[in-house]
Amino acid sequence: MLYADLHIHSTFSDGELTPSEILNTAMLKGIKCISITDHDTIMSQYQLEPYFCESNPIIIPGLEISTEYCDCEIHFLAYFIDIYNQPLVETLSRIREARVGRFKDIIKELYKLDIHILPDDIDKQEDVSIGRPHIARLLVQKGYACSIKEAFHQFLAKGKPAYVERYKINYKEALKLIAEAGGVAVLAHPAEVYKGLSTEKLIKEFKVYGLRGVEVFHPSHSNMEISKFYNLAKKYDLVITGGSDFHSSIDNGTVSIGLTGLNETLTDKLLRRNRNK
Ligand code: AMP
Ligand code: ZN
Ligand code: FE
Ligand code: FE
Repeated sequence: MLYADLHIHSTFSDGELTPSEILNTAMLKGIKCISITDHDTIMSQYQLEPYFCESNPIIIPGLEISTEYCDCEIHFLAYFIDIYNQPLVETLSRIREARVGRFKDIIKELYKLDIHILPDDIDKQEDVSIGRPHIARLLVQKGYACSIKEAFHQFLAKGKPAYVERYKINYKEALKLIAEAGGVAVLAHPAEVYKGLSTEKLIKEFKVYGLRGVEVFHPSHSNMEISKFYNLAKKYDLVITGGSDFHSSIDNGTVSIGLTGLNETLTDKLLRRNRNK
């Protein structure tokens, strides 16, 4: 088990566990530092706030925000953000509203395929940042797909019949927003999304607008990619982060909280870098 897992999704976005269940799991596993990084929402942070000052585990306020870069989707993780920063709170609620509209459009597309699901069929808590995994799980439950992967492959992935584009903010706007909320912006899972794009070129360009770190450790990264991103982070003086990107035991299969992340030394470096910012 690793010291820190800094990429976990809760029920406030498309994860299976509530923030307190995540906290309990981390404590049971002996993980010393966690960050819940929901897609486009910091609602989970308000539930965790009473524990921010405790040291076991250390909880870093986090977020994962989807952005647009030259027709590509780029995810940034944001750590140590001020969860009461007004521009951040307002932008995130605008993005979540757009997600609701897109969710309804996906349901309409599915209807055309004779798949009848209703918005109320989705078991989710209020104010959630709704995403395709919510629909995928329902498609599996109702027997339209045999697995989450299959639901994406048949219906929900880009290019598939029920795919609907989602509103995203521009990467420059996101980096500025994170910096102004006192956060450390980190390029998420560079190997997963940016195939075909030069990671070094992206890092160089994003750094100009406020990028401060690279997620080096992620379940989708091969050992070769880990060492490549590690070296790039060093070269450009960026912090190194890592996490499991845990969503749920059904979606992720072998991924679990604390299986990917940071050791104690790298976690200390990140915490120190934040203190000195
Ligand atoms: P959304 O935020 O609605 O665009 O959904 C994105 C989320 O869906 C990602 O964070 C993943 O958790 C999940 N996802 C995307 N593509 C796939 C896939 N092919 N198979 C399983 N899950 C996926
Ligand atoms: Zn997700
Ligand atoms: Fe992501
Ligand atoms: Fe994620």
